[in-house]
Amino acid sequence: MGHKPEDISATHFRYSLLLREIDHIRRGDNAATVALLLIRLSGLDAVNARFGYLGGDKALEAFAARLRSIARAQDIVFQVDARTFALLLHNPLHEGHALLAADKVARAALEPVAISAGRACMKARIGISVLPEPAHGGEELLRQCEAALGVARRRDEPHVLYSTAFEETCAPALRHAWFDMEEALRAGEFTVHYQPKIALATGRLAGAEALVRWDKPGTGVIPPGHFMAAIENSRGIRALTQFVLNSALREAAGWATRHDGFNVAVNLAAGNLDDPDLVDLVEDALSVWNLPAGQLTLELTETSLMQNPVASARVLKRLRQLGIRMSIDDFGTGYSSLAYLRDLPADELKVDRAFISRILQSARDRDIVASIVRLGHAVDLEVVAEGIEDAETVAAVAAMGCDTGQGYHFAAPLPAGDFEAAWIGPAAGKSAVSRCGVLQMP
Ligand code: C2E
Ligand code: MG
Ligand code: MG
Repeated sequence: MGHKPEDISATHFRYSLLLREIDHIRRGDNAATVALLLIRLSGLDAVNARFGYLGGDKALEAFAARLRSIARAQDIVFQVDARTFALLLHNPLHEGHALLAADKVARAALEPVAISAGRACMKARIGISVLPEPAHGGEELLRQCEAALGVARRRDEPHVLYSTAFEETCAPALRHAWFDMEEALRAGEFTVHYQPKIALATGRLAGAEALVRWDKPGTGVIPPGHFMAAIENSRGIRALTQFVLNSALREAAGWATRHDGFNVAVNLAAGNLDDPDLVDLVEDALSVWNLPAGQLTLELTETSLMQNPVASARVLKRLRQLGIRMSIDDFGTGYSSLAYLRDLPADELKVDRAFISRILQSARDRDIVASIVRLGHAVDLEVVAEGIEDAETVAAVAAMGCDTGQGYHFAAPLPAGDFEAAWIGPAAGKSAVSRCGVLQMP
């Protein structure tokens, strides 16, 4: 049935072929079950940089060969694009078959490949779904795998089996999370909220982080954690980023006239780093709203940076050359090396909320935060503590030397009007200081 695993060739580097193959299997046997493992490799850029493109090809060939050895005769292996492979399991043996295969694939990817001068290391993330349930057709199968890949990235797990629960957790509307972003944006369903960032030494407002919200009619406000995974690698991420960036710069340009040096932070997704137009898009937005580049911070999670460390560092460098501040978000949850951090063109490091929320209870978390602060300062990064929920934590992170604080203790993310009234308006200077009164204490 279909192609043999050894059929990896240039003619098969296409999603259309993959879809045709799925269609072919289903037409030949309409009771067939097909499990798709969509496999995305990271680390290829670093391999290319270190061993040259021939070295990169060698690493890919070695991985493809391992993939073929995992596939059974009736399964199909494709290379869909430079770093994406697909393993189609035709009639998997039992429920856990796809997971077992994914486990093997993840381990196969981690195994270093010997290349003349050394060893090439890559890593795979795998999104899995199954036809005819929960996917009803090939397109849907692919989209579900892509969504599962997004979840795998967010949870930093090697593989994730698609579940309709990804969508049910928030809204039936998310069943179509592959919605046309531009349409939803045009319909005005997205808004941006702002959460203050406080300079811990003075207790003064330093700026705000822009956080997107999806206000779906009939559903209510959906936080980004519920829909970002579905779109961060889709075409829609550009439109969403453009919207958030422009909203944030527009507000910040107004607020900066009343609050000197006001800095606004916008989050980027992993998918933005692959967008060749990202730098132009940011540059255009800055010039439209006429905000000095130094008053914009772009946040990228450590995990998204590590998906493609070499390419990410390149994009960061270009953005930073424009004068924009670059921030490493959710630090401590990824696996960046000290050497990578040292060379990364960044200005700020945000210690992940998970550590901050435990520092009062856990000496271990306190030690971790203290060493992240030291590490950050040693490589000239400003350190932000995020997720501060009480005054004791403010005092603790300030004592550890964190430069900036953010969290519900100061304020939750607020709609622009509320943020302005509470933090920027005529009485804002006073109110910001009084809210942080605790910081004035020794
Ligand atoms: P993040 O960038 O790390 O943003 C901080 C998240 O922590 C926000 O969640 C914020 O509401 C929440 N938070 C702030 N203070 C506290 C606190 O004291 N306690 C607790 N428990 N939570 C706190 P939110 O708004 O749901 O956003 C989640 C993530 O979604 C963000 O994490 C960011 O990675 C992503 N995100 C949000 N907006 C955008 C966007 O416009 N573009 C992109 N690419 N990602 C976004
Ligand atoms: Mg952030
Ligand atoms: Mg964060």
